[in-house]
Amino acid sequence: MRKESERKESRGNEKEVLSLLRETGALLKGHFKLSSGLHSSEYVQCALVLSFPDYAEKLAEFLAKPFKEEKIDIVIGPAMGGIVLSQEVGRALGARAIFAEREEGILSLRRGFKIQEGERVLVVEDVVTTGGSVREVIRMAKEEGGAVKGVASLIDRSSGKVDFGVRWESLVSLDLKVYPPGRCLLCKEKIPLKKLGSREMIEDAKEQVGKNGASKNF
Ligand SMILES: [Zn+2]
Repeated sequence: MRKESERKESRGNEKEVLSLLRETGALLKGHFKLSSGLHSSEYVQCALVLSFPDYAEKLAEFLAKPFKEEKIDIVIGPAMGGIVLSQEVGRALGARAIFAEREEGILSLRRGFKIQEGERVLVVEDVVTTGGSVREVIRMAKEEGGAVKGVASLIDRSSGKVDFGVRWESLVSLDLKVYPPGRCLLCKEKIPLKKLGSREMIEDAKEQVGKNGASKNF
């Protein structure tokens, strides 16, 4: 259980994190067609907020904070979403940072990356929805002999349905509504549908960044 003071602090962070996500177009509101075919009123693309190195560093400091006492030796993120974040969290914790990538469909360590027996591991991910990739990295790290001390994620989209069996800290929780195309409330309201990655969406993101001046420093 976390202390009340820590909880208050993480709620403070949540506001700041949400505003960074909105400023950089990483969190968009509208009517989107997801790659699954489902429709949604919000869309998250963490790579956009992480494209500002100052923001990536700031977010990583928030992620690292609850694990400062854990003496983490190595931070691992699943590719692609976890790569930039694990690098920055590694910096914040004074730990090594590596990533796992798919080889024949299985998340593995390549490029000579290694975990030494007994090393204390923190798994880092941008967005947790089903938790599949994180669970895979935890299993792999344990098989390599690592001691997994926790999971840190930017966004928890699991709606409380995920348990990794280790401490898990997330900066924000988002309960994004998704609809099957035939039963979409946004379609009913005739809100224009945007396809992910479309030119329209890129223009929208640019517009948000321009409006909010995301390149300003803290
Ligand atoms: Zn729709």
